[in-house]
Amino acid sequence: MTPAHLMAARGKQNRSRVGNKWRGFLQILGRVTLVTIVGAAGTFWYITYKDRNPGPQLPLDPSKKILVILGSGWGATSLLKGLDTTDYNTIVISPKNFFLFTPLLPSVAVGTLGAKSILQPTRYVARHKARQVSVIEAEATNVDPVNKTVTFTDTSPLRPLEPTRTIPYDYLVYAVGAETQTFGIPGVKERACFMKEIGDAEQMQARFLDCIETAAFPGTSEEEKRRLLHMVVVGGGPTGIEMAGELHDFLEEDLKSWYPELHPYVRITLVEALPSVLPSFSKELIAYTERTFKESKIDILTGTMVKGVSEGSVRLKPKDGEEHDLPCGLVVWAAGNKARDISRNLMAQLPDHQTNKRGILVDDHLRMLGAPSIFAIGDCTATSYAPTAQVASQQGAYLARMFKLIAKRDELARKLDELSKTSDGKDLEASKSKETESLAKQIERIRLKPFHYSHQGSLAYIGSDKAIAELPIFGREWTSGGVATFLFWRSAYLSTLFSLRNRALVAGDWMRTKFFGR
Ligand code: FAD
Ligand code: MG
Repeated sequence: MTPAHLMAARGKQNRSRVGNKWRGFLQILGRVTLVTIVGAAGTFWYITYKDRNPGPQLPLDPSKKILVILGSGWGATSLLKGLDTTDYNTIVISPKNFFLFTPLLPSVAVGTLGAKSILQPTRYVARHKARQVSVIEAEATNVDPVNKTVTFTDTSPLRPLEPTRTIPYDYLVYAVGAETQTFGIPGVKERACFMKEIGDAEQMQARFLDCIETAAFPGTSEEEKRRLLHMVVVGGGPTGIEMAGELHDFLEEDLKSWYPELHPYVRITLVEALPSVLPSFSKELIAYTERTFKESKIDILTGTMVKGVSEGSVRLKPKDGEEHDLPCGLVVWAAGNKARDISRNLMAQLPDHQTNKRGILVDDHLRMLGAPSIFAIGDCTATSYAPTAQVASQQGAYLARMFKLIAKRDELARKLDELSKTSDGKDLEASKSKETESLAKQIERIRLKPFHYSHQGSLAYIGSDKAIAELPIFGREWTSGGVATFLFWRSAYLSTLFSLRNRALVAGDWMRTKFFGR
């Protein structure tokens, strides 16, 4: 072999060594990737499998006290999630057998999200508890705080032979929320779309699409088109603002492409009786929202009262102006809460203690004044807190912790009671009185702390992929608005959703909307 041949052979060897190393690296990378994918898929499968196939539960135990929870909203569900059900026989009664994630309801109304994505069956939550929980789909119609009973009725289309029943309770958690406040304004109940229940969002969507298709119908006059495509949102709180923002997104992103000829006729107006929108937010963010709305061509009418809603128009009375009719195709009503009939009925039974028409009065442990076995939380109460999901869910979580302590206290009290009943043998007296003392001490040591609300900040979506936020960070109020806040808003909501299923569905819906429209 000549030296030249030798060198060429060595070069070939070197190259093949490098090639081997490279191939080896790729092989390892491939294997690691494969293992990771299989591992992640396996874990996901396992979690979802466990979710759908929870293990056996402890049966109901007649020796335990009966805890009845009325409602399946923010307060009730948060309580149920945190409650140690081994301590009680728990019964949940609600006309809706699901939890509704209300902050995303406006997104369902315009089709950004599907309705199922923000619902979570109450039975799912109940089925994952250690002890069985009875879930009853019925409307509570009466609470008797003296005899400690609840009466409920199945109001669904299919009813059992005896649709009304009365059951006793030891403790009652009253979390039935509130009704939409219409202030008795004529036409609101009949003609405006509410934004409270999943059915409201679906009804609004149908009405909204009907407005668009009717405007597109051949021969519809210019004036009629302008009226049909004028959407009025009443209420300048976070719900009204989000609703206007979502409507705007739909009209800008989808209507513009699918009905280009209708786009010039579209108009959105937000009506608020107070001098400013978003009264709970800082001045900066109010100004930012107003600017964004102006750019989005959403008119804001503050200091304006709604006097009536008729077919095809809404009657307005500006603070210093004439009453007049504003033609429109759709009115969305997002203007406040009022107590439900059952709450008013319950308050009327305790006239000495329950003196606030707005809702149920409670002490700092959330016990209903005049009825210490009833705890009331969320929108059905009249407290200094705003009627928000944040307050209701913190109250629910607080009660879950309290019920743990209450169960402990009740158990000690039961033992104490037993002891005092079985006292005959004289020589036992000394040791017994010691035990009695110790039990009494233990009971005394169980202190129930009052409820304390910790504000986590306020968030609102204002349309055009923008959101506003006010967050307390290190004791200071931090405000921000814009696209980055919008991404924060989305991730905050994704993380507060109650289950993996909800998170996956909502994230999927957001992607579907981004790629394929609504
Ligand atoms: P709800 O959640 O209303 O639950 C009441 C429950 O009681 C329901 O399950 C209902 O079916 C049931 N019920 C009704 N009548 C009876 C009866 N007779 N017997 C038994 N059960 C009954 N808050 C925020 O903090 N952030 C937000 O971004 C936000 N956005 C919102 C957007 C919209 C569109 C709406 C409507 C509200 C929003 N809120 C928000 C407010 C929040 O939803 C409420 O404050 C919260 O739902 C109050 O919780 P709750 O448990 O008291 O009542
Ligand atoms: Mg039924």
